[in-house]
Amino acid sequence: QGYVTTPHTMDLLKQHLKETGGKVVTRFPPEPNGILHIGHAKAMNLNFGYAKANDGICYLRYDDTNPEAEEDRYFKGIRDMVEWLGHEPYKVTHSSDYFERLYDCAIELIKRDKAYVDHQTAEQIKAERGGEKGEGERTESPYRNRPIAESLRIFEEMRQGLWAEGSAILRMKMDMKNGNPQMWDLIAYRIKFSHHVRTGNAWCIYPSYDFTHCLCDSFENISHSLCTMEFTQARVSYYWLCNALDIYCPVQWEYSRLNLTNTILSKRKVLKLIAEGYVNDWDDPRLHTLPALKRRGFTPKAINRLCDQVGITVNTTTIAMARLDGCVRDDLNVIAPRAMALLDPIKVTISNFKEDKKDAVDVPNIPFNESAGNHTLQFDKVLYIDRDDYRDAADKNYRRFAQDQSIGLKYRGVVLFCEDVTRNSANEVTEITACYEELTKENKPKAFIHWVCNPIPCEIRLYDILLRDDGDEDGKNFLKNVNSQSLIVKPNALVDPSVRDAPVGTQYQFERVGYFCKDPDSTADRPVFNLTVSLKEDAGK
Ligand code: ATP
Ligand code: MG
Ligand code: MG
Repeated sequence: QGYVTTPHTMDLLKQHLKETGGKVVTRFPPEPNGILHIGHAKAMNLNFGYAKANDGICYLRYDDTNPEAEEDRYFKGIRDMVEWLGHEPYKVTHSSDYFERLYDCAIELIKRDKAYVDHQTAEQIKAERGGEKGEGERTESPYRNRPIAESLRIFEEMRQGLWAEGSAILRMKMDMKNGNPQMWDLIAYRIKFSHHVRTGNAWCIYPSYDFTHCLCDSFENISHSLCTMEFTQARVSYYWLCNALDIYCPVQWEYSRLNLTNTILSKRKVLKLIAEGYVNDWDDPRLHTLPALKRRGFTPKAINRLCDQVGITVNTTTIAMARLDGCVRDDLNVIAPRAMALLDPIKVTISNFKEDKKDAVDVPNIPFNESAGNHTLQFDKVLYIDRDDYRDAADKNYRRFAQDQSIGLKYRGVVLFCEDVTRNSANEVTEITACYEELTKENKPKAFIHWVCNPIPCEIRLYDILLRDDGDEDGKNFLKNVNSQSLIVKPNALVDPSVRDAPVGTQYQFERVGYFCKDPDSTADRPVFNLTVSLKEDAGK
């Protein structure tokens, strides 16, 4: 792993072991500048999961060093999702908790002649690093060898607010000749007269990611600093800084990011989809942020199961959406109560209905699990079936209801025979009149369909993939791949009365249709349901 040792490493490691008792210590370090997505679920699964499996501890550390990008609501949003996925942080910390200590480290670094104040512009620094791609000749900053005392004085003045934004930065004195750009005198501190959500106006200099991350890991005695592959090059600077300060240096391990087909995760692109009206907000069920997945009905168990299945790899992994769907089906199949709903209902009136047949029908909540109990539906003269289950004429491949083909009603054990149909001006069937018989061996129908009596009107939202390809992750043209049919609203759907008092977030299997979750847009008399996933994997997906 290229771990770099110094003459003090063994002593520092002994001290670390003494303080931690040899426990595994990890951290999940999100930046509170947005909403977490399914990739973060993998990072959590790994950090919290690895600690738990080894009887260790895991911190939730907000990496809050960019005051402009960070907002209070994101702190809360992150916390909620960590909890939702079932993870229990050992402690909740913030990089900003360590601002004073980080500042002391910076002073120490200057004193060790391993940092200096620079006054070059960003353009000048880019040129010094050999231009845009680093292919040109590299030079050194003219300030690199200024006296230590001068850097100390100016850095203290920077903290006091005596220097204007952009007029000075603190840089680490690394190795401009090294082939790795992460060694080209990285920035440690910059001046920003910005209000910070947690520290207010106490600071006008803020530490960079490269400076902060490894030091906070060291302060918290992290044993395994797990990060994604794009930080591989940064491993060198991570070790360099801990060693330059002669403090405990955790080991960094990289793993590949989780990506999903047919969607995008990057905050910047999600913001673009919201801004341009392709989706409504961060929790639009078409997205794969964690709040969106929750709203759509994905369960923590399914998400964690996917992360477990994907495992830890170093190759870039783009996981087929079908795998996530499979995980949630497995979970919902055993926990989601059954109900009957019609996306596009047709009214059926039973002409020979006998009032004494207005009986109760018991429907199992979960067919293969008796302990999950039953719910009771009232059967009546007027019922509704799905338009999809009716055709005027049957042929040999069509097994459901038609003028010349009877149909059974699931759970009720009766058979309907079509008598008459009413049509509107567009020639669509608006109503069917039928007669019925009790089910016997002789009149057994070819199929049984779901039905609803005494329905609750509802809105059902069907979802399909957001993008027609894999998100064109590095391209700018992903907007042209947005699927215009990613949301289809069924405004006139009906659902059986068993769902009446369900709280928002309740999950159901609507029989023969799919798994659904009650949406926060629901009102008292008009629930809204989101399709989580269809019952079977659609061909061609
Ligand atoms: P994005 O750019 O997608 O918004 P990020 O890396 O900027 O993500 P952070 O808040 O910095 O988001 O991430 C917190 C932790 O989650 C980091 O350790 C990061 O490496 C990890 N992480 C982020 N995205 C993924 C992903 N797709 N797969 C696995 N881990 C991820
Ligand atoms: Mg980030
Ligand atoms: Mg990022």
